[in-house]
Amino acid sequence: MSNQQDIIIKALEFAKEAHAGQKRFSGEDYIEHPMAVARILQEMKLDEATIAAGFLHDVPDDTGKTLKDVEKEFGREVAFLVDGVSKLGKLRYPKTDFSVGPIELRMAEPVDLQAENLRKMFFAMAQDIRVILIKLADRLHNVETLTALPEERQKRIALETLEIFAPLANRLGMGNIKGKLEDLSFHYLYPKEFEWLVKNVKEKYEEREKYLGRVKPLLINILEKEGVNPSDVHYRAKHYWSLYQKLLRCEMNIEKIYDLVALRVIVDNIETCYRTLGIIHKYFKPLPGLIKDYIAFPKPNNYRAIHTTCFCLEGKITEIQVKTAEMHREDEFGIASHWAYKEGIDLKAQRKKFAWVAQLSNWQKGVDNPKEFLDSLKIDFFKDRIFVFTPKGDVVDLPEGACSVDFAYAVHTDIGNHCAAAKVNSRIIPLSQQLGNGDVVEIVVDKNRKPSQDWLEFVKTTMARSKIREHLRKKPLRESTGAIFRTLFKTHRAKMSSNAASLIIRANDRIGLLRDIAANISKLGINILSSQLKSPPDEPVAINMKVEVLNGEELKKLLSQLKEVKGVIEIKPL
Ligand code: MN
Repeated sequence: MSNQQDIIIKALEFAKEAHAGQKRFSGEDYIEHPMAVARILQEMKLDEATIAAGFLHDVPDDTGKTLKDVEKEFGREVAFLVDGVSKLGKLRYPKTDFSVGPIELRMAEPVDLQAENLRKMFFAMAQDIRVILIKLADRLHNVETLTALPEERQKRIALETLEIFAPLANRLGMGNIKGKLEDLSFHYLYPKEFEWLVKNVKEKYEEREKYLGRVKPLLINILEKEGVNPSDVHYRAKHYWSLYQKLLRCEMNIEKIYDLVALRVIVDNIETCYRTLGIIHKYFKPLPGLIKDYIAFPKPNNYRAIHTTCFCLEGKITEIQVKTAEMHREDEFGIASHWAYKEGIDLKAQRKKFAWVAQLSNWQKGVDNPKEFLDSLKIDFFKDRIFVFTPKGDVVDLPEGACSVDFAYAVHTDIGNHCAAAKVNSRIIPLSQQLGNGDVVEIVVDKNRKPSQDWLEFVKTTMARSKIREHLRKKPLRESTGAIFRTLFKTHRAKMSSNAASLIIRANDRIGLLRDIAANISKLGINILSSQLKSPPDEPVAINMKVEVLNGEELKKLLSQLKEVKGVIEIKPL
């Protein structure tokens, strides 16, 4: 027995012991769940570390054993995967109102921004895509065993599955898991519609399957006669959820759904795919506009195949899909298929695939061996992003190092402009304090509070920066020019010397006064060490200023220069 198999068996034993005596909601032994998860991962043909992590994924959270114990027994890699999965488990899905209208209304916006943000957060927190694969397997088994749970929880889990996990599976090209997740969720979330569909479609399904049973040998015959030997011809019924979505687009008319049950032809290579299409069209007239070449133009999730819809046997309209075995495998297992068959794959060709992942992380750059390929799957594009929550559970996506002020402006300009204090996870923190992934942030708003110059020193987002600047510009003149002084002062603070001279400048206030004074001083290469402005009502302003001068000569030059500034009445050295 190899070491690798050892690890899997050891993981099962470890999990059994850790979960001993625990029961699931359904009453069965808890260990059934991690075993089922590991089995799903095994079916995806993932590596041993991932399968072991599947057995162990609930150990640190739900048992007396810790992550440290797991690391001691199984090493870093397995512990990293287990830790990732349990971190993802702690993400809270935004609260949802289940009274929200009928299914048709929800369909209008199938994926809202929140869900998209949450999916991004998954990637950010997972770092290694195998963590997401384990989480998907975990979720698949959980929805498969939802029956025992109270209805409210069933619905919450089902909705989360439909809006987060199924699209994730889809993004990763895992058509099989995506279909299962969607259909199971559909059943719990919209039981009436599900029932209606099953009732209305069942007969159609059976009728179509019988029909395709007759088409299959005929088609094989034709192809062989033309010199093509398909490695497989089969048909599979469309998944319920995608069928229902299509029905909603087709006025619920089931007669218009040609791919209710589609015929699939699997051939050896791409060239044969196109030849097969030609042969099919020679015998069965295609419907114009329904020939789709996803080989030349793969879907964003890398789905590849040629689809055509023809007047088939007995003139019945039928969809036929042609693809290679490799394309088929990828459609079933998506990104996981790269582990399963990594010996044989052309890694150079792989680089072109999963373009969206490549965009995220350039993960395929210079990858020439399977080990590197695997390592490169660690998604780090979002590493410099953090995701925090509003008290209502909305997700806000910020750059790393962002603080509550960035958060406030990201939520709304008014909240930013009047933010007085911040509570993170119910505790008051300084506005400048950096936020962490998963923090729940609440902004205390005070109508009388205004953006402060100091904020510019710690905000990270361009959004907050420009809004603060915009607000400061609108403020009365002397405050904003005061800012210029402060900046100059700060820049030169390091060069503080003993040759400091203090001046009092009295002037009639006007727009641009302080800016002009500052400009004239810096024109001479003189640093301002500090400045203070007093403006008594109905009197000229008095500016008390400390400057850094080399000698009396320079000071004289400065005084005469400043006298030229419009509005200046007098300048007195102190
Ligand atoms: Mn679990």
